Amino acid sequence: MIKDDDQKLKNKKQLLNQAERLLKDQTVYSQKLSTEDIRHIAYELQVHQIELEIQNEDLRRAQIELEESRNKYSNLYDFSPVGYFTFDKNGLIIEVNLTGASKLCVERNLLIKQPFSIYITPDNRDIFYLHMRNVLNPSGGSRQTCELELIDKNGNRFYAQLESVAESPEMFRTAISDITISKKAQEALRKAYDELDIRIKERTVELTRSNAELEQFAYIASHDLKEPLRMIANYTQLLAMRYKDKLDKDADVFIDYIVEGSTRLQEMIEDLLEYSRIGTNKKIFLPTDFEAIFKQVTINLKLSIEQNEAVLTHDPLPVVMADNTQMVQLFQNLLSNAIKFRSKETPRIHVSAWKTKDDWIFSVKDNGIGISPSFVHIFRLFQRYHSRSKYPGTGIGLAICRKIVDHHYGKIWFESEVGKGSTFYFSLPAKHYSEIERTVNDKK
Ligand code: ADP
Repeated sequence: MIKDDDQKLKNKKQLLNQAERLLKDQTVYSQKLSTEDIRHIAYELQVHQIELEIQNEDLRRAQIELEESRNKYSNLYDFSPVGYFTFDKNGLIIEVNLTGASKLCVERNLLIKQPFSIYITPDNRDIFYLHMRNVLNPSGGSRQTCELELIDKNGNRFYAQLESVAESPEMFRTAISDITISKKAQEALRKAYDELDIRIKERTVELTRSNAELEQFAYIASHDLKEPLRMIANYTQLLAMRYKDKLDKDADVFIDYIVEGSTRLQEMIEDLLEYSRIGTNKKIFLPTDFEAIFKQVTINLKLSIEQNEAVLTHDPLPVVMADNTQMVQLFQNLLSNAIKFRSKETPRIHVSAWKTKDDWIFSVKDNGIGISPSFVHIFRLFQRYHSRSKYPGTGIGLAICRKIVDHHYGKIWFESEVGKGSTFYFSLPAKHYSEIERTVNDKK
């Protein structure tokens, strides 16, 4: 700035000397000039003067504009939401804008030549030194960023993000933004997530334990109930045989009810025992040929197939890793339901299988009475939607199917339209069992 002013003064002096010299020459010269010539020269001088005044005005305007844009820049610099710092190679503050100074709660001029590290929490200082080294490293070159916990003059801590570029090997500029809010939100989110994770894990352990306890209870209860129930059933049957027509009519009806009730209870207990047995053994999944499973099931259901004149067909069926016995049980329950819930038409049941990216999907399609798709609870224990007198059963068959499929890490669902038939689907993972087990354990 001082240099500019000197130069202007020098130019002004030169111009003054030149003008004086010209005037002197013109005075000598003017003595020889006519009045016309003098008038002409005077006119030219006037034009020249106006020209100079215009130039002067332009210069003045340019200077004002320059001043304005300089003010604008310095306002932008000082009041920007980001703190701007210039550091030397030792991390001393060379320059700082007002925002930067106010973030540290220190007057701007008091920050100059101070080491920035005193405003960094002690355990974060190494991060800053490393950041500095990376910025000034000639091979590093580009923009560097880091996150630090800073501490202002009053001892308040806040998180900041630093973004730095080297100005020279001796100096670098840094923009510092306050990221406390986002950092705290991030931390709160992480904490909430961790807490949720712990709670889910605790809940899973608790659920697994209570499930195991319940299964154990169901098994023991149904197992222990079997014996006294067998006794009741046997003796009421004996009662019915010996005393039929010997007591009055009501007694015969009552005895029939007891026989029927105890037989049903026996069936239910058998099914419950079957249900609670699934999953208690170690998983042994071997290559299972579903064509063979289908054949086995049709042999088991031979009587029911013949009585109903059911037509069972199937697409080519795959070999999948599974528990063979449980697959027989699963198919048998689905196929026997497809026959049991038949309509007036000849039961036509078709089994298909196809592979998706990760799974094998099986379907059992029938042309029976169908069921409303809103009865989504049919896979729960004892859920039945058709009268027992017409369609006997305990309401455990589909619950067993679901437990078997769950045990194989698959899914089971159905599609149906009342009066048109139903299709039951289930999936089995196509991956090797050990691989699935690993992913399931990883998720825990
Ligand atoms: P159950 O056959 O002993 O009644 P399930 O658990 O096998 O018990 O089936 C539950 C209920 O789901 C049945 O009572 C019936 O209402 C319905 N259901 C199952 N399979 C079919 C089917 N193929 N067509 C129509 N309804 C069915």
